[in-house]
Amino acid sequence: APAPLVWIPRPVHPDAVDRLSRHAEVRLGYDADAVPFDAVCHRVAGILLRTERVDGAMMRRAPRLRIIARHGVGLDTVDLDQARAQGITVTTTPTANTQSVAEHTIALLLAVRRGIGLAVRGEGDTRTAIRGRELNGATLGLVGFGRIARRVAAIAAHGFGMRVLAHDPVVPDGDITAAGAEPAELPAVLAAADHLSLHVPLTPGTRGLIGAPELAALPAGAVVVNTSRGGILDEEALLASLRAGHLAGAGLDVTTVEPLPRDHPLRAEPAVVITPHTGAQTEEALYRMAAEAADHLIRHLG
Ligand code: NAD
Repeated sequence: APAPLVWIPRPVHPDAVDRLSRHAEVRLGYDADAVPFDAVCHRVAGILLRTERVDGAMMRRAPRLRIIARHGVGLDTVDLDQARAQGITVTTTPTANTQSVAEHTIALLLAVRRGIGLAVRGEGDTRTAIRGRELNGATLGLVGFGRIARRVAAIAAHGFGMRVLAHDPVVPDGDITAAGAEPAELPAVLAAADHLSLHVPLTPGTRGLIGAPELAALPAGAVVVNTSRGGILDEEALLASLRAGHLAGAGLDVTTVEPLPRDHPLRAEPAVVITPHTGAQTEEALYRMAAEAADHLIRHLG
């Protein structure tokens, strides 16, 4: 039988493409001889997907499609109902970027607390304008205690000597304690957190989870970091709290609209550090995401 055809719409780590090529006929949707979906839809058996959309109409035109292997997590771009109807397997790589996102969360905490954004912009006498704070001895509140939050908790507690409180309605208290954090309900986390970091998925239940009342409940001078998903943190409320001088700063890797427009008012806030969803953009995470997605394709089509 001929090797199954795998289509890769956007660039992924080249090692994964090489390995896939030994097991499948690989067609790339990018580079000099880019092959569009239309040209492969009749034969395509597997798709290695980053953030592109695969809707029901595309699937219906792909009768041989058996697997969509997502590089990373988040399946909001895939029509899961149609995939189920056609018996198409959909996979993700949920652990591949955990460490990278956790490290990025810590980077944002430090950047905000030490005025790195202000220093890099270099306006005026930044040296005397910057009055940083140490993380040692401070309290970190975590909303959600899944994979990323656990790594953040370990680094914060062991690396910086922070006290860590965590709220997660699903994770047993014993698991939170074992990871070096203290379980607490959300109001108790907010009341104590001079640093708040969000690690929940975006669902109807978490949209707007941290709005004006939650920000007001934080101690004055608190810092909020969001590396989870835009929409969980209410940006209007964040801006208002910063302008009122209640929050000392914020670090955002994700925003409701990405990339955040150049003229967005949050960009003009001196104590806000914004990165363009780069939490998983490391050599290691990109390699692991591509390698794991390639594994899923090879195993499923082999
Ligand atoms: P995970 O599934 O391991 O953990 C999420 C946790 O959130 C779960 O334990 C769940 O019980 C908890 N949760 C759900 N609703 C909650 C609520 N209302 N209150 C408190 N806890 C709640 O996920 P993860 O791998 O740790 O990822 C966390 C988030 O980070 C996800 O939203 C993911 O999309 C995002 N993420 C961002 C990047 C990036 O590039 N910035 C990369 C990967 C993941």
